[in-house]
Amino acid sequence: MKKLNPPRVILLLLLLAGPLAAADARREIRFPDLPGYGTLKCDLHMHTVFSDGQVWPTVRVDEAWRLGLDAIAISDHIEYQPHKDDVPTRHNRPFDLAAGAAGVHDLLFPKGTEITRDTPPGHFNAIFLHDVDPLDTPEFVEAIERANEQGAFVFWNHQGWKGSEKGRWMDVHTTLYENHWLHGMEVCNGDQYYPDAHRWCLEKGLTMLGNSDIHAPDRNEETTPRLHRTMTLVFVKERTLDGLKEALQQGRTAVWYRDQVIGRRELLGPFFQACVRVAPPHLRAKNAVWTKIENTCDVDVKLGRTGGGGPAQLVLPARTTSLVKIGVADPAAPGELSYAATNFLIAPEEPLPVTLQVPK
Ligand code: ZN
Repeated sequence: MKKLNPPRVILLLLLLAGPLAAADARREIRFPDLPGYGTLKCDLHMHTVFSDGQVWPTVRVDEAWRLGLDAIAISDHIEYQPHKDDVPTRHNRPFDLAAGAAGVHDLLFPKGTEITRDTPPGHFNAIFLHDVDPLDTPEFVEAIERANEQGAFVFWNHQGWKGSEKGRWMDVHTTLYENHWLHGMEVCNGDQYYPDAHRWCLEKGLTMLGNSDIHAPDRNEETTPRLHRTMTLVFVKERTLDGLKEALQQGRTAVWYRDQVIGRRELLGPFFQACVRVAPPHLRAKNAVWTKIENTCDVDVKLGRTGGGGPAQLVLPARTTSLVKIGVADPAAPGELSYAATNFLIAPEEPLPVTLQVPK
């Protein structure tokens, strides 16, 4: 046999070993931590073949890892199982099947379910459950009560969806609310935004959530500013299941939906400040200075001027640095610029007021 030289031997060995295995890589989503809080990217509403979804539970974990999520909840319908003849009713199995993979991928993975009733009352997710089976009961309010007995976090899904009474706040919702059995609402679900849910979260102190409610396989390779799931950003004291639950109970969330971030003013303010960095001016002329403004986040920042100086409109594309000319009376002291961040919503159609501090 002809003697092979060393590079050929290595090539032969590689060919025999088969294709090189790609690392199990993920692309991180870039959103800043807040002072005192870590920021978790969460999707707390999704389906598998155990209800009307199209994937096996472990696929949801692989997707979440690849797309840069930190926490997910599988929330298969209790009452709607179109694949029942092929996949029998076993409400705890989606969690049990995927929990090991979630641990390997370092994902927070609370056990969840979707209590699925015609409108009213509508659909409700319960997460941080121990056992889904007791919630499989004919009485809706009893199912919610049993979820709460397990210490679950309960939220009303896609409030404006389906039925002649869709979206209305009825007596049954008041019953849940007054018993402290309802803790949050989806302000956004998939590609829908629900301004009433947004308003009620503000009025009633409910937690704002945004989730994908994905049923099909997620075909995205990565999360980008343009191509991303609707998700909830949760600001946690610690990166644990307890930390996630505490932050949800306290309402420390924001929703990333299309090109918008939706949340409470007291959270979006520091969030904005953590995203946007203004450099000291690098060039000064008689009536203007030039500076660089960096947007470190995965969402474009859209600004409309509300005070003097600076451009009337300013878009800082996600993960870029923008060159900005600021008109000033005294180039030695550019000072503060007042804007509204038009795609950071603190209430329906109400943008976040922001100040850009231009350093000396
Ligand atoms: Zn659902």
